[in-house]
Amino acid sequence: MSPEVKLERLSQPAAEARLQSSRLAIMAPGSVEQHGPHLPLGTDAFAAEALAEAVARRLEAVLVPLPLVGVSPYHLSWSGSLSLQPQTLISVIQDVSECLARHGVDKILFVNWHEGNTPSLRLAADSLQRKLALRVVIAEAHIIAHELFGERAQLTHAGALEAAAVMMFDPSLVHLDQATDPTPDSEAEAGHAIFRRRDVFPVLYDFHEVASSGWYGDPRSATTELAEEIREKVADYIAQEARREFARVRPTGG
Ligand SMILES: [Zn+2]
Repeated sequence: MSPEVKLERLSQPAAEARLQSSRLAIMAPGSVEQHGPHLPLGTDAFAAEALAEAVARRLEAVLVPLPLVGVSPYHLSWSGSLSLQPQTLISVIQDVSECLARHGVDKILFVNWHEGNTPSLRLAADSLQRKLALRVVIAEAHIIAHELFGERAQLTHAGALEAAAVMMFDPSLVHLDQATDPTPDSEAEAGHAIFRRRDVFPVLYDFHEVASSGWYGDPRSATTELAEEIREKVADYIAQEARREFARVRPTGG
């Protein structure tokens, strides 16, 4: 059996021992937003959680719970999608991190799969490093998965890479036979490119501006075998790079 790493599932003495030995807490920020007719609303949350758990095992750290809901206001025109205000997510992270700092944690690693969370995570990280004696590293798991597996499973909104990512968590949540009505790749890629420009760019307001049907790509190449490979290779990569970055940076004064 794999060792338990989720804080809420550990006994208090077991959590205390692990927090004191590793001094590292991992958080997997979530997102609950439409992912087409074939993937669950929690796709990005489940992907982050599955990878964060695997990373926590490798680093002998604790996976600390956050809300499943993230910052996804541009999906709200599809009902069922939920969003926190950025300041709400930042406040939750700050409150939880203050508790952890009291218990000896001096490093926090975010394992994130949702692009919409990134600005809030950066702001939270900066604030934590200035107020508490800890350092933060951010791992953008969807970008790593795309770099390692993009040729076999394209990273789109609700395409093959995201379908495989859900399979890491629970294959019964993926319904490839329901994957109807994708927006054409050319249309969605042109839309995304505008909002992902780095020099001059508008800010995404509604995901219809990227994909009129809400999703694009071809999820049919996702398999549970691919999902397992993604879990192992992406978790290895994050664990190795996070270890390196935490060793590289100096402690803050708090
Ligand atoms: Zn997603």
